[in-house]
Amino acid sequence: MSNNEDLYRDTESFRDSVATISEDGKRVFIRPKKPKGKFYSARTKVSIALLILLFGIPFLKLNGDPLFLFNILERKFIVFGIIFWPQDFILFVLAGITAVVGVILFTVIYGRIWCGWMCPQTIFLEMVFRKIEYKIDGDYGQQKKLAKMPWNIEKIRKRSLKWTLFYLISFLIANCFLSYIIGTDELFKIISEPPAQHVGGLMSLLIFTTVFFFVFSWFREQACIVVCPYGRLQGVLLDKKSIQVSYDYKRGENRGKFRKNEDRKALEKGDCIDCNLCVAVCPTGIDIRNGSQMECVNCTACMDACDSVMEKVSLPLGLIRYASEEMVAEKKPFTYSKRMIAYSSVLVVLVITLTSFLLSRSDIESTVLRVPGTLYKQEGDKIMNMYNYKILNKSHEHKDLHIELISPEGEIKVIGFESTISLEKQEFSEGTLLIYINKDQLDGRKTQVDLGIYQGDVLLEEVDTKFNGPRN
Ligand code: SF4
Ligand code: SF4
Repeated sequence: MSNNEDLYRDTESFRDSVATISEDGKRVFIRPKKPKGKFYSARTKVSIALLILLFGIPFLKLNGDPLFLFNILERKFIVFGIIFWPQDFILFVLAGITAVVGVILFTVIYGRIWCGWMCPQTIFLEMVFRKIEYKIDGDYGQQKKLAKMPWNIEKIRKRSLKWTLFYLISFLIANCFLSYIIGTDELFKIISEPPAQHVGGLMSLLIFTTVFFFVFSWFREQACIVVCPYGRLQGVLLDKKSIQVSYDYKRGENRGKFRKNEDRKALEKGDCIDCNLCVAVCPTGIDIRNGSQMECVNCTACMDACDSVMEKVSLPLGLIRYASEEMVAEKKPFTYSKRMIAYSSVLVVLVITLTSFLLSRSDIESTVLRVPGTLYKQEGDKIMNMYNYKILNKSHEHKDLHIELISPEGEIKVIGFESTISLEKQEFSEGTLLIYINKDQLDGRKTQVDLGIYQGDVLLEEVDTKFNGPRN
């Protein structure tokens, strides 16, 4: 066993506690140093693009309907303009399983890239609220000083300005969040019409705003550490081949302070100069040099901080970098593990199945069932059965439909409609229809009949049902 491995194991005791909880069980409020560097700039650009998307998407419409809607209350879901109804339950389950396998595969390979670069919690906290905080309260040193300060004019001014801005932004986020649930049209009604008409809507807005304000002004990294189920899953998803923000302990240890003109190799010192800057910038308060930790959201702040130090002391960059445990320990290049290949194969099968289901999905959903308790009726050579039908127009457009008998030959009369059933977009129609079939076409007491729902000449859906007749 090498010296480096000994040192690495000696640091395992950090796992006995959480950096944000003190020994007496109190919350340790993290005030990280303002990050700076190429990864932080790249993340800022990605965040701006994602925020534009997040706030812009609810305004995008297709044939008057939102492009995305997740109306849990009315069980109405629109994804990429495709309307999903409760009848599409199988598609939903399949999409859900595909998403879960996709997330697992992504995490197994790339670790918590989602957390650091794309998760709304990290984007809002690090790229919106924290930036405002740095502007008003200053960097971490000034923030600590301000926190300890008595409530004088300066502190009252800074705190009220910060909290007012935080509350206003939380209100904006709550509006955005609600627009994904009820759509922008409903949201504008809540905002513009007299409050008495939308008490429920206004209450939800207020509750969401307060929750967001609480999360971003106080709860912060605890959402990732304590609440987020994805964060909890990391322990089982990551393995030694997963790419994560990693400290190269082989290169960094034995860590030791930097002295000008010293020969670190001769002194058996590693490249880590023990400046603690990587700890100071960490928004979850951990020391990445202790190894992979559940609290790490892969925000890259420590990578930037360490690179800036390495540059100053003229050592190679990347002491903290994106790498797997195997790449660091064995100095190996990235390779695919059997687990990655297995998840990828399952994902490909699921994506193909989901795509084929989506492509073959009909614009309408219909059922035709015999009216319970009715008998067949004989009119000359013709036998008549009575049915209940239900047709749902799942599309974004008006549809004029008619029902035809595909087999056997016969006639259909839809009660209440001359020849076509007119359905507005997302409209549902139900009623009664009569089917007449010549006696010689029947297979005895029960005959299978196939009906087609047509729009013009186009067959949209085929439905089969049973037809009762006399014994031959
Ligand atoms: S250890 Fe580094 S990457 Fe992980 S949360 Fe802290 S600063 Fe971000
Ligand atoms: S920033 Fe780099 S050099 Fe400084 S303590 Fe962290 S790992 Fe060591």
